[in-house]
Amino acid sequence: TKENIAIFTFFGATGDLAKRKLYPSLFKLYQKGYLKERFGVLGTSRADWSTDQFKDAVKESISGLENSAAEAEKFASHFEYVAHDVTDQAHYSALNDAIKGLDEKFEAQGNRVFYLSMAPNFFGEIALNIKSQGLISDNGYNRLVIEKPFGRDYESAKKLNDELTSTFNEDQIFRIDHYLGKEMIQNIEALRFGNTIIESLWNNRYIDNVQITLSESLGVEERASYYDTSGALRDMVQNHIMQIISQLAMEQPVAFTDADVRVEKVKALRSLRVYSAVEAASNFVRGQYSAGETGNDYRDEDGVPEGSNNETFVAGKLLFDNYRWSGVPFYIRTGKKLADKFTRIDVVFKKPLIDIFAFPQQSDAALSANVLTIYVEPKSGFALTVNAKSAGQGFETEPVNLDFFQDAESEKEVPEPYERLMHDAMEGNSTNFASWSEVAYAWKFVDVIRRLWNIEDPQFPNYRPGTMGPKASDELLERDGRSWVYKL
Ligand code: NAD
Repeated sequence: TKENIAIFTFFGATGDLAKRKLYPSLFKLYQKGYLKERFGVLGTSRADWSTDQFKDAVKESISGLENSAAEAEKFASHFEYVAHDVTDQAHYSALNDAIKGLDEKFEAQGNRVFYLSMAPNFFGEIALNIKSQGLISDNGYNRLVIEKPFGRDYESAKKLNDELTSTFNEDQIFRIDHYLGKEMIQNIEALRFGNTIIESLWNNRYIDNVQITLSESLGVEERASYYDTSGALRDMVQNHIMQIISQLAMEQPVAFTDADVRVEKVKALRSLRVYSAVEAASNFVRGQYSAGETGNDYRDEDGVPEGSNNETFVAGKLLFDNYRWSGVPFYIRTGKKLADKFTRIDVVFKKPLIDIFAFPQQSDAALSANVLTIYVEPKSGFALTVNAKSAGQGFETEPVNLDFFQDAESEKEVPEPYERLMHDAMEGNSTNFASWSEVAYAWKFVDVIRRLWNIEDPQFPNYRPGTMGPKASDELLERDGRSWVYKL
């Protein structure tokens, strides 16, 4: 295991994300030896905490993980806290002193990771101050890790990016998309580029359509005020679904390096057809849940304004205008309060051109399409359906399932997305982070739909909790003579 050497500065260190994900992830890296002695963590936020309080909060956040009190204590001894308002320039010199102190104490050689785990409206100002107040080291690396949302449309994303790039170069900016930290999303590349029998069929001659479903069973919970200004399109499609789709659609990279993978993902996104308003209206549907007998309407949730037209569900059909994918629809859907919590990708192959079994036997059972399903979560695995002869006299065919699922033992070995991504950031490997060009193309695609939805009033609410969304989502495929592979 290679030891990483760095000083982390967490902005928003008392926040929900930091406590729930970031400290536990660092601790796991520590337990596995990716962090040993030569790391330090400076936490900062508005909250008026002491370093001791901070250490207690850190120990509390890792208390659910297997560890001994002594180990937790030792880990926490690398942490320090400075209260600070990011809008106040004077405080950056306090931060600077603390970072330098930690750097000396832990011999971190000027390696710095600045992690912004707070509201994005502060990102620009923080980045500018990091530079102007001299927090950048000149003897090690300086990296910036940021959280979604990255803007709320192309314009605001561009403005934010311009602010960040006045301090950090593109190769120093790590935009977290935690879906890219998931085992089975990373497996898309292994499945495709490691298998002749898959990649040789991976095009419009053999694939009929591709379906991506990110289904949540929960509602908005405590995040209503954020979610109501975002909606499913911005919250899930612009980032996670666009990242997944670019990995499914891209050409083979020259090598499996961050630079080579990025080139291909950007190329794929460039060939995604950006719709006109009219096309957007026929290729995208939105939904909002209503209670039925089961609970509250979205509009009745705490923190959601009365009569909100925010969408809690999106389904859409996307098309790539390139040689590989011309004519193959990519259907996507995501939403809250759906039937179950899962993420899966279904790749539906074309049926044999001629069904020789149908004619002489007058068999009723038509051949099924082969479907390759990538199960992203909660289970990790994949399955391929193939047609086989049903046992017995006669000649009926039936689809059988070839599948592989990770066993409980290897599931345990799988790092949490944040653990993996934090490690990649220290290694300077951006393969599983979103580049600016990817973000920009994704916004340009999504903005057309958003603009249309801003001016047209939806027929909300239009789906019940526990279903797979509004009827219009099924009709989107039925219109093309297709249907969702996963249905209730
Ligand atoms: P949070 O509201 O729980 O925490 C915000 C933190 O910022 C607190 O530590 C607060 O003290 C600090 N802060 C606020 N204003 C400040 C100021 N002026 N100066 C200094 N500190 C200030 O937020 P969170 O849920 O931890 O989310 C952090 C970021 O992560 C956001 O960008 C959010 O969109 C993103 N995110 C969160 C989650 C999640 O599950 N919580 C998931 C994905 C992305």
